[in-house]
Amino acid sequence: MTYVVTDACIRCKYMDCVEVCPVDCFYEGENMLVINPSECIDCGVCEPECPAEAILPDTESGLENWLELNTKYSAEWPNITVKRESPEDADEHKGEEGKFDKYFSAEPGEGD
Ligand code: SF4
Ligand code: SF4
Repeated sequence: MTYVVTDACIRCKYMDCVEVCPVDCFYEGENMLVINPSECIDCGVCEPECPAEAILPDTESGLENWLELNTKYSAEWPNITVKRESPEDADEHKGEEGKFDKYFSAEPGEGD
């Protein structure tokens, strides 16, 4: 198993998760992060750290598409291990429905 980042992260990017991951397996897109499933050691430390509740274990049902997305983009986006400032409007998008369709960007983020 692994943990995956889901669309609750989109446009939030609080980045509390990256600071706690012992194997630095988060990767940064323009407006969300993903986990590299082959690097994640399933420690679960990041899950309660995420204020948006965006991180879930892939043992939960219905996460196949998110596992695929985390796998694909962690191979393309830069690694991120240090927390930066969240976007100013992050709180406005917390808990918003349908963020993937509205905002997902395949563009890479800055990384460390
Ligand atoms: S803490 Fe949660 S919302 Fe923030 S970047 Fe990490 S996964 Fe995304
Ligand atoms: S479960 Fe552990 S290893 Fe996997 S992404 Fe979270 S903190 Fe990193």
